[in-house]
Amino acid sequence: MALKYPRVCAAVDLDAILSNMHSMHDNLKPETKMIAVIKTDGYGFGAVPIAKLLESEDYIWGYACATCEEAMELRDNGIRKPILILGYTFPFSYDTLIDNDIRPAVFRYDQLEQLEERASNRSDDRKVKVHIAVDTSMARIGVRPNDDGALFAKKALSMKHIEVEGIFTHFARADEKDLTDAIEKKDIFASFVERVEKENGVRIPLHHCANSASIISIPQAQMDMVRAGVTMYGMKPSEDVPTDKVKITPALGLYSHIAYIKDVPAGVAVSYGGTYVTDKPTRIATIPVGYGDGYPRSLSNKGYVLIHGHKAPILGRVCMDQFMVDVSRIPEAVENDEVTIIGWSGDQHISIEELGNLSGRFNYELACDLNPRIPRLYIKG
Ligand SMILES: *Cc1c(COP(=O)(O)O)cnc(C)c1O
Repeated sequence: MALKYPRVCAAVDLDAILSNMHSMHDNLKPETKMIAVIKTDGYGFGAVPIAKLLESEDYIWGYACATCEEAMELRDNGIRKPILILGYTFPFSYDTLIDNDIRPAVFRYDQLEQLEERASNRSDDRKVKVHIAVDTSMARIGVRPNDDGALFAKKALSMKHIEVEGIFTHFARADEKDLTDAIEKKDIFASFVERVEKENGVRIPLHHCANSASIISIPQAQMDMVRAGVTMYGMKPSEDVPTDKVKITPALGLYSHIAYIKDVPAGVAVSYGGTYVTDKPTRIATIPVGYGDGYPRSLSNKGYVLIHGHKAPILGRVCMDQFMVDVSRIPEAVENDEVTIIGWSGDQHISIEELGNLSGRFNYELACDLNPRIPRLYIKG
């Protein structure tokens, strides 16, 4: 499979991504729309191919990115559905936003003023669509759901060239066993929205608060729309989120090939710092992948790969572009054989969650850190 890119290749299973999206959608009321969260190049999986895959799905309202540059990459590649920017967008991007129908999250008065000014200076009569960010849980971005927040919303709703298309919040603790906090925050958000709508005599079209964990576990958080990230990619929001309600299929395989094999006697130090010294004659395979690809150095002397369905433990430190594994117990291994870093080999499987735990990292983080140097191979049908 990975023959085209023998050094290292990330195989992205687009069918799995689509089926993960479908199974989340099956867990919602049929009219609930979904946002596909594809920030950080789609959690490392590739934002453009994923947006292209989802562009024709009716229940997908649009996409969420972290920056205007990410949103523009989608527009430059022909993606037409709405795009929401989840964080703060700096004013230098406002003309680009307006030109390309990209929705900023708003929560600062100077954003409203500057967006209003840019929009009113245009020759067309276009309004800027915005989503008001409400901070219920994270103390990150957003207005607080109190009198100040209500004043801000009133201001946004009164601007001539601004259209408040949506209002949203984000939960800090929706991926835990005890959902009391998330449900409480959802209620606070819902009453704040109700208050704003009542005070201004409007219905803001899109209320949204649910991430992947909430899509799975908190039915009352659906509102008009939900924002699906990690689960779309076949990863678990956390160990505590039940996986029986929504079927999640892993969508990433990471493969390499053995670059070199040698036999060394006992007493040989392996890799930088000599942190591993062979205690018996050992057969060592060199894998041409390293932390320069995003493979965590913290897997030094801890991680393993799969070769012919067997575990080959890492010996010594992971280098920038290479690491060594013990293949003494895999006599059939020869140079150029396939190496599974994430995914299946025979009946053995290494998940991104397991690598995350072993390396003291986090599955989301590991996926995002897969370097652009790793070619992506998209598999469909
Ligand atoms: C990243 C993000 C999401 C997606 O979260 P997942 O846990 O990956 O589903 C949703 N909403 C906001 C505001 C985010 O920043």
